[in-house]
Amino acid sequence: MRIGLPRGLLYYKYHPYWETFLTEIGFEVVVSPPTTRKLLKEGLIHAESEICLPVKVFYGHVASLMEKVDAVFIPRMVSVEGKAYTCPKFLGLPDMIKAAFPNIRIFSPTINAKKGFKGYYRQLLLFARQFEASAFKAFSAIMAAEKNQKQYMAQLYKGIIPVKNNKIPSNGNPNIDSVKVGIAGHAYNIFDDYLSVGLIKKLTDRGASVVTPENVPQKTWNKYSSKLPKHLFWTYEKELIGASLYWIEERLIDGLIYVMSFACGPDSIVQYILEDEARKYNMPIMPLILDEHAGEAGIVTRVEAFLDMLRKKVYA
Ligand code: SF4
Repeated sequence: MRIGLPRGLLYYKYHPYWETFLTEIGFEVVVSPPTTRKLLKEGLIHAESEICLPVKVFYGHVASLMEKVDAVFIPRMVSVEGKAYTCPKFLGLPDMIKAAFPNIRIFSPTINAKKGFKGYYRQLLLFARQFEASAFKAFSAIMAAEKNQKQYMAQLYKGIIPVKNNKIPSNGNPNIDSVKVGIAGHAYNIFDDYLSVGLIKKLTDRGASVVTPENVPQKTWNKYSSKLPKHLFWTYEKELIGASLYWIEERLIDGLIYVMSFACGPDSIVQYILEDEARKYNMPIMPLILDEHAGEAGIVTRVEAFLDMLRKKVYA
């Protein structure tokens, strides 16, 4: 059976896990192509207009798989750590997609860390057993998936951003006065070259070295985000705030770019927290809002102005 994996949202975080798991239990995995204008337009046709930009793009990825696969894999990501949830959009994603594409078969096991390790294994084992995988095969598939995910994350912690078909060195151009820039943003925005208008490449081509929250281990971002007066309920927002606080407090960056997507609820809260914290440490910060009309020229102008300002501050 051919199963589609949309290249959007949490694909950028967990693609080694899902690709390995599905392949090991016997599926042929088909990943949707990188985002393009056409694919985004397709998403806009099917999605509700109030939804955030990355979810609209996700609809486009699902549409691009329709003729190529027998089913689409969209796990229901409720929680990935015991003390927090994911954004509500991830909880409802399989239902939203089902409503928009009633003819597509969707497989959506629930991932809910609040049910503990046993609950998580049980969900995946039950999912695999539906396709006649033996218990041994299903368990081996989970082990292989975890191993590949760990290797992927070890590479990320070394500062590399090895997203498939999108290998971006983050170490800057040695021929230009280098400045260090932290990009606080969701992986599905900053590693999607179309949505971010190639932000990482634009920065590295202009002499900046770049770090993203994926380069910071969970232990570290948890420690720094826990310094906030109030506990954050959303894991991925906690990750990007914790990573940013780590860079800011330890003086690991010269400036911070906060990438938000249009119509994202959590982002609007995170923005104020980050601006507040950056101000305390006199850290330059530039918010960048991505929407379906983001133009190359506007992003280039802002990136160049921000880097010029950082260079004046660092090398003056
Ligand atoms: S965190 Fe924001 S951008 Fe991400 S899925 Fe939720 S609403 Fe959309």
